[in-house]
Amino acid sequence: MYNPKSLKAEEFISNEEILATLAYADAHKNNVALIDEIIEKAKKCKGLTHREAMILLDCEIPEKNAEIFALAEQIKKDFYGNRIVMFAPLYLSNYCVNGCVYCPYHAINKHIPRKKLTQEEIAKEVIALQDMGHKRLAIESGEDPVNNPIEYILESIKTIYSIKHKNGAIRRVNVNIAATTVENYRKLKEAGIGTYILFQETYHKESYEKLHPKGPKHNYAYHTEAMDRAMEGGIDDVGLGVLFGLERYRYEFAGLLMHAEHLEAVHGVGPHTISVPRIRRADDIDPSVFDNGINDDTFAKIVACIRIAVPYTGMIMSTRESKECREKVIHYGISQISGGSKTSVGGYDTPEAKDEDSSQFEVSDNRTLDEVVRWLMQMGYIPSFCTACYREGRTGDRFMALCKNMQIHNCCLPNALMTLKEYLIDYASPETRKIGEELIKKELNNIPKDKVREICNDNLHKIEQGSRDFRF
Ligand code: SF4
Ligand code: SF4
Repeated sequence: MYNPKSLKAEEFISNEEILATLAYADAHKNNVALIDEIIEKAKKCKGLTHREAMILLDCEIPEKNAEIFALAEQIKKDFYGNRIVMFAPLYLSNYCVNGCVYCPYHAINKHIPRKKLTQEEIAKEVIALQDMGHKRLAIESGEDPVNNPIEYILESIKTIYSIKHKNGAIRRVNVNIAATTVENYRKLKEAGIGTYILFQETYHKESYEKLHPKGPKHNYAYHTEAMDRAMEGGIDDVGLGVLFGLERYRYEFAGLLMHAEHLEAVHGVGPHTISVPRIRRADDIDPSVFDNGINDDTFAKIVACIRIAVPYTGMIMSTRESKECREKVIHYGISQISGGSKTSVGGYDTPEAKDEDSSQFEVSDNRTLDEVVRWLMQMGYIPSFCTACYREGRTGDRFMALCKNMQIHNCCLPNALMTLKEYLIDYASPETRKIGEELIKKELNNIPKDKVREICNDNLHKIEQGSRDFRF
């Protein structure tokens, strides 16, 4: 029944295989010899199977867990260095015909204010985001064929890319909209999107159907097979994710990795990113109703084990998580975070509007982008506003090839420094700028190739003189 190459959801996410994996991991979670063998394999940075990764996730031996966390940190350093890519979500519309019981935008919620941004309002949001310093957005919209048809999404993407305010520009638009047809994915590709993101929410079919009682999203197979259609439509960077808290985390972890294996087996390229959201409070939503919540320690272990299992896949943590939690978990494998986020429709241009009114979830990390950037640098990270790969056509297997050859270091670090420099000059507070300038000076020496370092240094001077948008 289980077949990673199948295009049928229930065969590549086989319930039997997940249950067998959970039982296998439970039986071997304290098998030191086997755990050592898996850790040795993981050190080669070629990834792990879902069964191997599950054993590491379940492992209860403190010394082995310390090794697992250390290895995750090492792999993160090897592949992503100390860079963290920044992004912000942009909510276009909260009209939705679905009934997702964990989301305040569900169609049955009659008291939440509904809003759909006009193109003029989108332009204002984008200007507000550019004025913060953002270059990379993830647009979000409810599913509503009447209010939010694909034409609306396409027009919105066009508007976003067209706004050039002062030195600002949105250089990459990732899209998080409902599962759709191959034809629509093709249109999104043509509109120049970066990653197509779609969270599975839960891989457990029975729970999935209960959690999505109405609307097109009720169809588990259609939703689960969406990434295959997206890839058929030409989108080769796709982002997976589950909403932790809905189902048992072990089940979700196995499902997530099986989905990644499926994409690799069928399309030759795994997911570009994996997101790890946890359920949060929102209008009409009480997270305690969902009894599969995970604590920060389990969350950190999940992040570490995903990092080890799929080293080439970026991992995203949003402002759903508090500063404290982000501080704890970021080292184990996160490569992208959001900052200064608003989770309501129109929240950037009208910050005085009560965010809670129409937000999709309560933000835990309410700091400004400037504060987040400074905090990252104080922890030794380089906040990066880089969008180079997608703009240089390094997507899908081309990106993975570069990543697997570790050549990405000669691009990512100089790109991070140059985009950080732009940020410091155009948007940062004096204090943030001071810390950033020192960091850039120090990190410049870590660029491996002499020639690249020279060009980067030259470009940094040009940025000071007013030029923008250099990239490797
Ligand atoms: S999760 Fe998405 S599809 Fe579901 S109700 Fe919320 S906006 Fe609609
Ligand atoms: S060079 Fe590519 S992989 Fe590196 S940070 Fe930029 S976009 Fe990401």
